[in-house]
Amino acid sequence: MKDYYSILEIQENAAETLIKSQYRRLASVYHPDKNPNNTDKFLDLNEAYRILMNRALRESYDRDFKEFNNLKKSRSGDKIIPYRTRLRDGGNVNIEIDFTDDVINSKDGEFITKTIQLQRYVNCPDCGGEGRERGTLAIICPQCGGSGMVKNRDTKINEVCQDCGGYGDIFLYKCKICNGMGRIKKSEEITLEFKKDDILNSVAANGNDNNNKIIIFSGRGDDGVFGGKNGNLTVSVKIDDNILNKINNLHKGFFIKRLFSKK
Ligand SMILES: [Zn+2]
Ligand SMILES: [Zn+2]
Repeated sequence: MKDYYSILEIQENAAETLIKSQYRRLASVYHPDKNPNNTDKFLDLNEAYRILMNRALRESYDRDFKEFNNLKKSRSGDKIIPYRTRLRDGGNVNIEIDFTDDVINSKDGEFITKTIQLQRYVNCPDCGGEGRERGTLAIICPQCGGSGMVKNRDTKINEVCQDCGGYGDIFLYKCKICNGMGRIKKSEEITLEFKKDDILNSVAANGNDNNNKIIIFSGRGDDGVFGGKNGNLTVSVKIDDNILNKINNLHKGFFIKRLFSKK
């Protein structure tokens, strides 16, 4: 929200005569003829003058302005959540599972189930992922009008609004459980099912490099909040080197057999 009083360099109770004289003085300083590269200030002066010189418009502006200032005061000490930490999309969660025994003790084509303890971010149960205390408001950011972007006065480049962090809204009371993030870290026991073939294919395709032997569970990583999408759960397949070599040899043989049988 623009502060018309500071634009005109006057107090909030300034009389119309002062508004008029300040406008004349500043308008001549910032006139586009003298400042062809910066017309914003001149436009602001005109806008401020137009609003403050109209009794009805000034009254309604004063009401909004007071509310805006109260809002800013009520939020002092309650720092607005920065853009980069208030994420929408959930992150990928990466874990490693040792399949050595499972691969030895199961038949090809079988499913291998693994129950593991998984730590990931889930929707905050307290605020339901809203990031603000239940029953409290998220208001349209007065600084950017909800767009999340503001034009830098000097560079004329659109930048992320600092007041709302680019979200276009502001929480009057952020959720204390998740600190406004909408999600909390949770450890839970989950059961995953793997096709033995997927594990074999994964290790055969990537050799001994454990980091690359990965099976992806789409959407089972960190929860997305504020309309974001879930991250993935990626499982690095770990297998004892000796067993891995055996599998690789067997697997190669398997593929070669298949190639020949096709002819
Ligand atoms: Zn904003
Ligand atoms: Zn919460």
